[in-house]
Amino acid sequence: VSRGETIGLGPGGEFDAIRRMVDGWGARAQGIGDDAAVLQAIGDSSLVVSTDTSVEGVHFRREWLSPQEIGYRATAAALSDLAAMGAKPVGLLSVIALPEHWLKELDEIAVGIGEAASLCETPIIGGDLSRASELSITITVIGTASRPLLRSGARPGDLVYVTGSLGGPFAALRDFEAGREPSSEHRARFATPTPRIREAQWLSANGASAAIDISDGLAADARHIAAASGVCVQIDAGSVPIVPGITAAEAVRSGEEYELLITAPEELDANEFERLFSVAITRIGRVLEGNPTVELTLGGETLQAQEGYLHFQNERR
Ligand SMILES: [Mg+2]
Repeated sequence: VSRGETIGLGPGGEFDAIRRMVDGWGARAQGIGDDAAVLQAIGDSSLVVSTDTSVEGVHFRREWLSPQEIGYRATAAALSDLAAMGAKPVGLLSVIALPEHWLKELDEIAVGIGEAASLCETPIIGGDLSRASELSITITVIGTASRPLLRSGARPGDLVYVTGSLGGPFAALRDFEAGREPSSEHRARFATPTPRIREAQWLSANGASAAIDISDGLAADARHIAAASGVCVQIDAGSVPIVPGITAAEAVRSGEEYELLITAPEELDANEFERLFSVAITRIGRVLEGNPTVELTLGGETLQAQEGYLHFQNERR
């Protein structure tokens, strides 16, 4: 646990704001900068804790999702941060702040929260309910890990992997924003993502060195690993599995995927992984010594790494 220092976050306005807050808190801020905080526990394992907020108009629009999907998605996003640490969930707390006109949807939101909790075998252990001027759902998740997967664990020579296939949320948002209904596949990947909880525990047990869940886009999240580990992450965008109807250049910018980006010193058994979890794991690059940056190539050409989804500015680039 680092005390009073901001461990490597990638560039961007949201992260500059976080750095300012943490600098101001000084020694009172501890272990900030990864997908979740790692606390000392009694016994061999660590406690892993994270919190995540979904706000109407910033993370979703009411026209796009059912109240049940809004509850599910907020909870899945929070649980995905435990997956990113290779942690096993032990409980979650939900804080729902909502305006009057959302009250009749509260039960449905709660159904969605319950669905994500049962999918990840996580008890709901508390929370709070408040009136507010807009709907927000804040989910705090607690887990344990004997060997937390940190963003800072990547080393030169490691291989880079990604789970699943990317681009679904990008395609769904593009359609939603154009006033079109997305295909059912794209819509499902946006509305009901699966946190890779069990997959991450397997990866941790099978030698993964670093992990992050893809919430800002593969390219942007790879920069967080590069910054935290002090390494250059080289990714061949052409080898990233993508959903139909999307290009590789779009897929590496697609945020809110909740797939995992992993590094590992040895080759992972992709066949075994796929057999166990019915999800692909694909080698997409390698870790090199050098400046903490991401080198993204497509067909041998350098791909300009674009900004990820900047929640803070409510703007997709
Ligand atoms: Mg994360």
